[in-house]
Amino acid sequence: MKKFSQFLGLAAVVSLTSAGASAARADCGPESLGVSRTMIIGNANPTAVGLQTYPRTLDLADHEVVLTFDDGPAAPTAKVLDALARECAKATFFVIGHNAEAMPALVKRAAAEGHAIGHHSYSHPDRTLRLMDEAMAKADIDKGIAATNKAAGVETAPFFRFPGFADTPALVSDLNARGYTVFGSDVWASDWKSMTPKAERELILARLDKIGRGIVLFHDSKTQTAEMLGEFLRELKKRGYRLVHLLPGAGETAVVAAGPEWTSTTEPIIAKTLAGKKAGGKTKTRLNTEADAPSSHTHPMEENTSPAETR
Ligand SMILES: [Zn+2]
Repeated sequence: MKKFSQFLGLAAVVSLTSAGASAARADCGPESLGVSRTMIIGNANPTAVGLQTYPRTLDLADHEVVLTFDDGPAAPTAKVLDALARECAKATFFVIGHNAEAMPALVKRAAAEGHAIGHHSYSHPDRTLRLMDEAMAKADIDKGIAATNKAAGVETAPFFRFPGFADTPALVSDLNARGYTVFGSDVWASDWKSMTPKAERELILARLDKIGRGIVLFHDSKTQTAEMLGEFLRELKKRGYRLVHLLPGAGETAVVAAGPEWTSTTEPIIAKTLAGKKAGGKTKTRLNTEADAPSSHTHPMEENTSPAETR
């Protein structure tokens, strides 16, 4: 378990940043999306959330949305941060440690602008952490956390998302025991598929309108996502959505359990993708669990079927 003082230290840093963000908020004007509330991701009982992979998610009200971005920092990340700043919007970035080493300034900027910085492994291994030797997988996770902490220059959030959602019970337990909450997602933008920014925007809005709330997955490594983001945020505001910003802290995370009909969206995709890798098949495509699929079992989504790259 992480030391409580680390969370307090982070909370202090974050609240300073939030004060700056509040001042900036006035510049955004009432027409901007902003952040409607913060939600504490607690250290008392870290768990795994996001209905596409886990049978529970964050307890969000109707029309509340959490924005998450994976696989950065990358060239389009600056434009993503610009779009968020224009709307005084806050998000969570699940950073690849290797990328953080290459582009530390973008990690520093995201942290300084009040976004939560989470973790997404060091190498985003093609074979996934699931197929790696457990000790090697843990080492990759820890190397990623260390690299991202170093790039950020501040304590980052104890939030982790498995590359391709390909977790193992042992790795999830280990992360939880160390105070890390594991994040899946409730809905994704399928932005690993090449499409126009307008098509991506319409796709994610349609999916979001169906489920009405949730943790949204994007990739800040994708130019099409960076290009559609400003208009997407303005459309969220227009449609009455409210942004929830995640912060680590003391206590329990407010979660809600899935219904009895819940099944994993990602597991069949992972099984299919990993079958080839286990057989020793050399595929040039890295796993994308983040592959296209129905979004949620409690909220059926339209289905897209082509597998694709995560980044
Ligand atoms: Zn990823």
